[in-house]
Amino acid sequence: MKTCTKCGQEKSASEFWKTNSKCKECRRIDSRERMKEFRQTDDYRAWLDKSRDRRNALKAKYRIQSGCKTRKQITEEHTKRVLEAEKKRADREYFNWCFIGPPKPSGAMNGADYRRWKYRNNQHYRNYHLDKRRRNVETVTTSYAREQLGIKDAPAELVEAKRLFILIKRQIKECTQ
Ligand SMILES: [Zn+2]
Repeated sequence: MKTCTKCGQEKSASEFWKTNSKCKECRRIDSRERMKEFRQTDDYRAWLDKSRDRRNALKAKYRIQSGCKTRKQITEEHTKRVLEAEKKRADREYFNWCFIGPPKPSGAMNGADYRRWKYRNNQHYRNYHLDKRRRNVETVTTSYAREQLGIKDAPAELVEAKRLFILIKRQIKECTQ
């Protein structure tokens, strides 16, 4: 048994570090207080700054070891989610602006007039349709073939024949150039 010089309690030898006169509990309290004081100092702030990268690297290592995501991964995933959400919102706004757009003045325009009006006045709506048109012409879609055929309610076989005809004509043109 040994008596602690700080708290004055009598404790068994295992409650003391070998050469110490204070018990382990008192020493713990002491070091906690010293640390608390140290945290108020500029030295501590300097140490925080200097060791930040090293401490973060250690934290990341322990997180990986215990199967958790690292801060970097969490931040990256969060950023990705935010960007995706922003893109989705922007896409929705863009879509609304193009296709729901300014309200149709009721009675003043019919549907076709309104589409023409929008085509003239809404650059996004126009670009969308110009793009679509370009794709249709490029890939010779059924709707493009039907349009080129110029026959109302043409049967599907005839439209397909026209489609193939356009494709063949293009091939011949390419060969003869
Ligand atoms: Zn003590």
